[in-house]
Amino acid sequence: MKILVVDRSRVFRALWSRMVLAAGHKPIMASSGAEGLARIDENDLELVCASITLPDMSGVEFCRQARARAAGHDLPLILLTTKQDHDIRRQAFEAGATDVHDKTNIRDLFHQAARYGRPVEHAHEGKVLYVEDSPTVARVMIRILEGMGLEVAHFRSADEALQTFERGSWDLVLSDILVEGEISGMGLVSRLRQQFPDKTSLPIVAMSGLDDQNRRAELFRLGVNDFVTKPVLEDEVRARIGNLLANKRLFEEVQDQRQKLYDMAMIDPLTGLRNRNVLAECAARFFAEANQKDMPLSLILLDIDHFKQINDSHGHLVGDEVLVGVGELLRSTGRETDVALRFGGEEFLLVLPECDLFDAHTRAEELRQQLRELQPAGITITASFGVTSRPSGEDVGMNDLFRVADQAVYRAKSEGRDRVVSRALDTAAKPDEQGTPAVDLPGPGQPTAQPVS
Ligand code: GH3
Ligand code: MG
Ligand code: MG
Ligand code: MG
Repeated sequence: MKILVVDRSRVFRALWSRMVLAAGHKPIMASSGAEGLARIDENDLELVCASITLPDMSGVEFCRQARARAAGHDLPLILLTTKQDHDIRRQAFEAGATDVHDKTNIRDLFHQAARYGRPVEHAHEGKVLYVEDSPTVARVMIRILEGMGLEVAHFRSADEALQTFERGSWDLVLSDILVEGEISGMGLVSRLRQQFPDKTSLPIVAMSGLDDQNRRAELFRLGVNDFVTKPVLEDEVRARIGNLLANKRLFEEVQDQRQKLYDMAMIDPLTGLRNRNVLAECAARFFAEANQKDMPLSLILLDIDHFKQINDSHGHLVGDEVLVGVGELLRSTGRETDVALRFGGEEFLLVLPECDLFDAHTRAEELRQQLRELQPAGITITASFGVTSRPSGEDVGMNDLFRVADQAVYRAKSEGRDRVVSRALDTAAKPDEQGTPAVDLPGPGQPTAQPVS
């Protein structure tokens, strides 16, 4: 940045010149108010710092005269003082100073000079839903918005805007408060916020010629993010809308990151199935509902047989391919409400809401057959299945059921693998008690738990 420093002292000027350079900016020095003003007229400065006492005028007067000149109109002006009292601040601001800064501690002012500079105009992109019934105002605003790189859909009434809103995706809503039609701008805001609770990140800007303080408070309570008074000041509108769009983008980036982190924590990258971290979240919900409404809920736990041998004889990558194939089978079969999880290594879990033990057993039998025919990576595989279900009239949790399903898998393994063992939950048994009785559940027309080999 090109920074002008105005001070009577040669020593200070030399010192500050070095500081400006050290902060990476270009120093320009003036020893009097008149010299400083002449320098401003050259119209190439980006920041001006002037001491409160100058040989020919006060710093406050310097600010006033600088502001009155074409080139100083929107130039950031910092007044340097050793005394920061309220009176000096008030006078400085009234004269048009941008800020008042401590003269004895000026190094960080130069280091942070960029924040006083004109913000670089970023090109925006996005769609604005704009409601305005005055053609004159609309023409001005559309020019400003389009000038910012935004796409504008303009409506004269809130009714029309509301209908279109539902059909599109928007980055900002800008609405006049008094508009033609049934619904006012206020009504539009309250409807948008009430009917679209998932769009809280969508910024809404209200515009009005009536700058009534009560109405403003009410608008903010309804969910407006900003308020612009008419007639509009172009720079201000651009800055406000630019800020809102930037915030929306940031918010969405944070949301995306959050989703990615969630996926990383909850999705098994190999099979794309959810992992056991999801269980805590979804199990609580499923079990609460099933217990409350006394609805059936079943688990199928399956463990691939002799999987270690597949790794050992075909390699780990082939083993992975087998797991992917099993994952796809579990995902593509069954009902939409079922949840398939990769529980760990070569163990998978199905949570089946509104499914009783009989149906769960049948489902497991089907899966057992499908798995035998699947031939992932060209290899015939089998699995052992443990099935259990929430008993009617009992309040049970995930751990109760899982323990029983796990025991059932163990039993299926010990009985020769490639089979389904179903077990009822014996709620009278203590948690550490083994040997919940396996129930003989006849499948539809076929015997159960018969080894197929
Ligand atoms: P069983 O019939 O008794 O279940 O025998 P098994 O060999 O399937 O069971 P075991 O628990 O002895 O071995 C499981 C193997 O699964 C060991 C482990 O290296 C392998 N495994 C676990 N996760 C992965 C994975 O992500 N990819 C591959 N390729 N192998 C895995
Ligand atoms: Mg109007
Ligand atoms: Mg295992
Ligand atoms: Mg296994």
